[in-house]
Amino acid sequence: DLKMIYFVTPTYPRPEQVPELTRLSHTLMHVPRIHWIIADDQPVCSPHVLNILKKSSLPYTHISSPKPYQYKLSRNFPRGVANRRAALSWLRENVREGILYFGDDDNTVDLQLFDEIRVTKKVSMFPVGLIGGYGVSSPVVKDGKVVGFFDSWPGSRTYPVDMAGFAVNIEFLNADASMPYIAGHEEDRFLVSLGLQIDDIEPLASNCSRVLVWHTKTAKYKRPSLKLDLEKVDQDKY
Ligand code: UDP
Ligand code: MN
Repeated sequence: DLKMIYFVTPTYPRPEQVPELTRLSHTLMHVPRIHWIIADDQPVCSPHVLNILKKSSLPYTHISSPKPYQYKLSRNFPRGVANRRAALSWLRENVREGILYFGDDDNTVDLQLFDEIRVTKKVSMFPVGLIGGYGVSSPVVKDGKVVGFFDSWPGSRTYPVDMAGFAVNIEFLNADASMPYIAGHEEDRFLVSLGLQIDDIEPLASNCSRVLVWHTKTAKYKRPSLKLDLEKVDQDKY
């Protein structure tokens, strides 16, 4: 029977949050055997987020996982790390088998990806579109094996891949599996902490020749200034 996919989504409050999560919920509602873990960057779980989870009728876990105070002050802080760490400890305590996938709230996923990652034995990898200077980040595959990586920012990483570009069999998560608070190195350090070897990697998406997930970004909504409009109204009046 089908392995459960644990889809881990970090999220935080902003005007785009409800529309992003609504759209993502409509993708996940098409997927069988999926458990949605939403890790909420808030001291208390958001009722708006909970409402989306309930409406989806998916099995879910809603975790409060606020970022540590010091990261609220910096601009280039590691985004979504407290969230993913909280989800990892929940998985460690509650789940023995299944597939782990880190799906950010603003990404776009082809349903085909779920069929492919479901059979991950250790760690599977695949291209991510709309990312970095090259427009794609992908493992390089030769004769069905991953032999290198194509990514616009190698950053002296062993595994220069995006968070959306891999899935992990939960049986392959060991006690040392961890994600550091180091911006740009979260994926690599996590994969290295699993004891991953390059030969272990299972390339998906037709030997990494197809894009089944995109690192889409939504433009930040800027509220037009109401103050100016009111001044205009006043001027018209007198
Ligand atoms: N995120 C979060 N708290 C923050 C900023 C981001 O939980 O303060 C989440 C966000 O909702 C997303 C993930 O972390 O699921 C990655 O953030 P974002 O999409 O902003 O980063 P980018 O894709 O630009 O690297
Ligand atoms: Mn994003």
